[in-house]
Amino acid sequence: MSDQTKSICLYGRPNAAKREYLCALQAGYTEAINRFIRELLGQPVLFGDILRNSSVSSAMRAYEKQHRVSKLGSALSQTAFDEAVEKLSQMFLSVRTIMYGYVDRGSLEFDFVNSLALLGVAVSGGDRSAAVAVMDKLLSARNIPADRRSFYTGLRGRLLKAEEPVVNGTVSHIRALFDICLQDVKVPHVKNAWVRMDSRACALEPAADIEADYVLSAPSGEKGRRVLIPLSTSAHSRTRMKQYKPAKTMSYSVRADGIISVRVAVTKDVLSKTGNTYIGSDIGVTDAIFASDGKAYGSFSALGTMYDKEVLPALAKENHLRDCMRKRQKQLRSETDPVQKEFLRKKIAHLNTMLQQSDALGRSLRRYSTEGDKAIAQTVHDYVSDRKADHAVTVLEDIDIREFNKCRALNRRNSMWLRGQMTRRLEEALDWNGLAYVEVDPAYTSQICPACYNLDSDNRGKNGNRKGFTCTFCGHHDDADHIGSINIRDRAKDHDLLALIASEPHNKDRRHSLIRGYFATKHARWQQEHTDSVS
Ligand SMILES: [Zn+2]
Repeated sequence: MSDQTKSICLYGRPNAAKREYLCALQAGYTEAINRFIRELLGQPVLFGDILRNSSVSSAMRAYEKQHRVSKLGSALSQTAFDEAVEKLSQMFLSVRTIMYGYVDRGSLEFDFVNSLALLGVAVSGGDRSAAVAVMDKLLSARNIPADRRSFYTGLRGRLLKAEEPVVNGTVSHIRALFDICLQDVKVPHVKNAWVRMDSRACALEPAADIEADYVLSAPSGEKGRRVLIPLSTSAHSRTRMKQYKPAKTMSYSVRADGIISVRVAVTKDVLSKTGNTYIGSDIGVTDAIFASDGKAYGSFSALGTMYDKEVLPALAKENHLRDCMRKRQKQLRSETDPVQKEFLRKKIAHLNTMLQQSDALGRSLRRYSTEGDKAIAQTVHDYVSDRKADHAVTVLEDIDIREFNKCRALNRRNSMWLRGQMTRRLEEALDWNGLAYVEVDPAYTSQICPACYNLDSDNRGKNGNRKGFTCTFCGHHDDADHIGSINIRDRAKDHDLLALIASEPHNKDRRHSLIRGYFATKHARWQQEHTDSVS
C-alpha cells in the first residue's frame, strides 16, 4: 500500500482588484525565488546543504531569516527560499554528473565526487578533519543499511590512510573542478512560479448559493480581510475531489488571459498490483507506444506534421523579423546622416511593433501543445486500461539516459518534447493505478537480434527501410519497433546484464563496451549450441 498524489486544477475569473493583488503576489514570489538563487550562488559555505537539498540546517535557517522578503510574509518567503534551494540542488547534481568525467575510478578524487556528503565538505570549504567528522556522523546514525555502512566505513578508511596534505590538496582540487563545471550549467531562472499557498491560512470550501463549485479563501495582505475567489472545474475533477482526500498543498498561477488556476493535491491509498509478466514499451513517434505483445497505441505523426507546417514557419518568421531588426540596428550605429538615422529609427520601431503584436508563434505553440496533451492523454488511457487487465510490469527506456546520449544529434525538438511528456504522464498514470514499471538503459535495444543475440547496427534497415529489421547473421526478420520493445522487455529480466550496467553508471563509453561484450559472448554461446545441435 502506498500513498499516491495527483493534482487537480480548479479555475476562476477573479475581478480586477483581486486579480491585481494575486498577480502582484505571484510576481513578488517569482522574483524572490530568482533572487535567492542568485544570492545563494555567492555563498559557498552553504553549498553542502544546497547539494543535499536541505534547507533545515541552522546555517540555512539563519541565512533565510536574515534575507527574508518582508513584503511576502514569513511563510511565503520561506517557501520561496525552499524552492530556490530545490532548483539549485538540481543544478548542483548536474554539475556533479559532469565532474564524474574528470576523475578516475578508484582515486580519492572519485570518492569526493561519488559521495554527496564528501562533495559537500569539499565545496563548502572543509578539510580532512571535516570530511572524517562527516563520515563519523553518518556512521553514528541508527539503523543504517549494511551496504551504506560499509560504503561509509570504506570512505573513512581511505581518508585516514592518505596523508593529510594529500587529502587537503584533493579537497581544493575538487572545489576548483566544481567551480569550473558550474560554468557549464545554466543557472535556473523561474518564470511565473506557481505560488504555494500556506495551508494554515488558506481554505477551499464547497460553494453555496453561487454558480461555482468551490470558494477559495486566502489572506489579502491586509489584517482581518480575506480574498474570496469562486472556482469551478470539470465534472470529472469534481468526482475526483469528492472521491479522494485533498492533501494540504495548494498552489496558484494567474494566466495572461486573467484566469486563475489553482492546483489542489489529492491523495489515495494504492494497493500495488504487481504481476510476474513483463511488457516492454517503446515510446516513439509513428506509434506513440509500441508494446512487446505487438499492440500499438496512439500516434504522434499528425503532431509532427503540425509542428512542421505551423510551428516551424511561425518560428522562421519571427527569427526573420529579429534578424532584420538586428541588421537595422547595426546600420543605425554607423549611420551619420540625420535623415537616414530618423528613417532607420522608424523602421526599427515598426519591426518591434510587429514582433510585439504578432502572436502567431505563441498561438501555434499553444495549439500544438493542446493537441499534444490530447494525444498523450488518450494513449496513456488506452495503455493503462490494458495493464489494469493483465497487471503486467511495464518496462520503459530510461529517458534521461536516452536524451543525454542523443541531445546533440537530435534536432527535432518536438519529438523529444513529446516523448518526454509521454513517459512522464505514463509513469504518473501507472503509479496512480498501483501498476509497476521499471526503467532500463536503452543502449543497443534497436540493434540486437532477439533470436541469436547478434548485435549489429546493420540489423536495422538502412535509410529507406527504417521500419524493418533483418539479422545479418541468422536472417531473423521482424518489425523494427517490435524488436525494440522485445529487447527493452528482456533487459528488465536479465539480471547479469543489469548488474553489469549498474557497475558503470557514469561512464557511457565503458558501459557501452560492457554491453557489447556481454552480447558478443551470448551470441558466441548461441552459435556453439546451434552448431552442436546441427552436427
Ligand atoms: Zn539473429
